[in-house]
Amino acid sequence: VSILVISRDPMPEKLIAQFRQQLPDQEFRVWPDVGNVEDIHYALAWRPPNGELAKLPKLKAILSFAAGIDHMTGDPALPKNVPIVRAVSDASKLTMSSFCAAQVLRFHHRLDLYAEFQKQGVWKQVLPRDMADTTVGVLGLGVLGLDLAQRLLALGFPVNGWAKSSKPIEGVKLFHGAQGFIDCLASSSVTVCLLPLTDETRGILDARAFASMPKESYVINVARGGHVVVPDLIAAIDSGHLAGATLDVFDFEPLPADSPLWKHPKITVTPHTAGRMSSVRVAQNMVDMLRQATSGASLQNVVDWSKGY
Ligand code: NDP
Repeated sequence: VSILVISRDPMPEKLIAQFRQQLPDQEFRVWPDVGNVEDIHYALAWRPPNGELAKLPKLKAILSFAAGIDHMTGDPALPKNVPIVRAVSDASKLTMSSFCAAQVLRFHHRLDLYAEFQKQGVWKQVLPRDMADTTVGVLGLGVLGLDLAQRLLALGFPVNGWAKSSKPIEGVKLFHGAQGFIDCLASSSVTVCLLPLTDETRGILDARAFASMPKESYVINVARGGHVVVPDLIAAIDSGHLAGATLDVFDFEPLPADSPLWKHPKITVTPHTAGRMSSVRVAQNMVDMLRQATSGASLQNVVDWSKGY
């Protein structure tokens, strides 16, 4: 059994060394040094070059380095009969949830306003928000959204959630469907997007969505840039309707130097870092996924092509 690490970006030597050290019984090959394609049973993939995975006839599973799979769905030859396992772990859930919670808490406690007052040397207290009034709407209650919802509840925030299926989640007010989407936005002071990017969710946060949100509410997008129609977001903030936004993901990454988002006073830009973990954690997670896959145990977090995510 050989494992192919495949990416069009150079893979850090340290990462490969860690794989070899932790799984000494497996042979790791690094694309483009593929060797005999017949030997390769597993691929660890990050932005794999188009057509390359389809050349591996004995592939049993593709293990994605990321939770999202849009880094490979652009490949028209992506083998759909091979399971794709998404990289999620307790560590990645905690990383994402703590990032989102930090943004929610920053909004809730008006930390940007106090940072501004400090710059001016002004001692001024404004009315605190009541936690019961800062309802957080989480769009997408999958592995990451569910974890965030539960942690926000533990902090004391009321939580709304929007998902496709209707499995109940204790303490979370659930919404479904097109009308549910609008109702969820309308009853949330902060909306966090944790949806996968699909044909159904592309551009979902548009002028209509922003208009449905309460005045002075806040938007956090940590899912994919394609979810937000940026000109609509800027218009909704500049009109005074929305208080601001935190954006971690963008249509084009790195965010182009001439993007108006960089200098917008009410928009926080972070460089796709909400779910980023240390390379040690990434390697450990991939090793755990490989151990699970090669042990013959049933695979978890497998992409369901009937749903598209
Ligand atoms: P999951 O696949 O586990 O969950 C997706 C959720 O979205 C599910 O609750 C699903 O509903 C819901 N959903 C999907 N389509 C629709 C729709 N049309 N209408 C309503 N609900 C919908 O994904 P994860 O939680 O693991 O990850 C979410 C996304 O976060 C990833 O796809 C990725 O793009 C992004 N991400 C970003 C990172 C970053 O660093 N910024 C890091 C990691 C992930 P149901 O439960 O009914 O299936």
